[in-house]
Amino acid sequence: MRQLPEAGVELGGSGRAPALPPYSMPYGVLGGAVSALVPLGILSPSMAAALPDDDVIVTPWRGLVLPSGADPGALSDAGFVLSDDSAWPRVTACTGSPGCSLARGDTRALARRTAASDTTADRIHIVGCERACGAPNSPHTLVFSSRSTSHRSST
Ligand code: SF4
Repeated sequence: MRQLPEAGVELGGSGRAPALPPYSMPYGVLGGAVSALVPLGILSPSMAAALPDDDVIVTPWRGLVLPSGADPGALSDAGFVLSDDSAWPRVTACTGSPGCSLARGDTRALARRTAASDTTADRIHIVGCERACGAPNSPHTLVFSSRSTSHRSST
């Protein structure tokens, strides 16, 4: 609602929708449960195969919570992120090429390189064009991917 021109007032509310602080999901072993981030929200077949044959809770933050626990090492080996120290909770991307015909670059490949090398605390969203699909509504830096270069702009 905050992204509407009047931030929700046009729907009959009494005022503008309040800005919410960005939520931080904890990752790793949490008591008897395990919280795991799925980089870029893409669950590969090998990642799915590493999940226990039990309940899985899907979070709105590209993550899974396994309430009955799981082998953290096996999950990490399969590609899940279980550390709060990883850059992955701060790095997202639009579909990019080859999935989107408007994309000027492979956003997901750039996201993987960014997550592997980025040491800043910035929230980074990588896009293939100015539409900036999937950009978070919290402060972030947009990185534009093209076939040969990338450039940043803060929002
Ligand atoms: S931001 Fe542009 S390139 Fe990325 S998914 Fe949206 S339209 Fe496609």
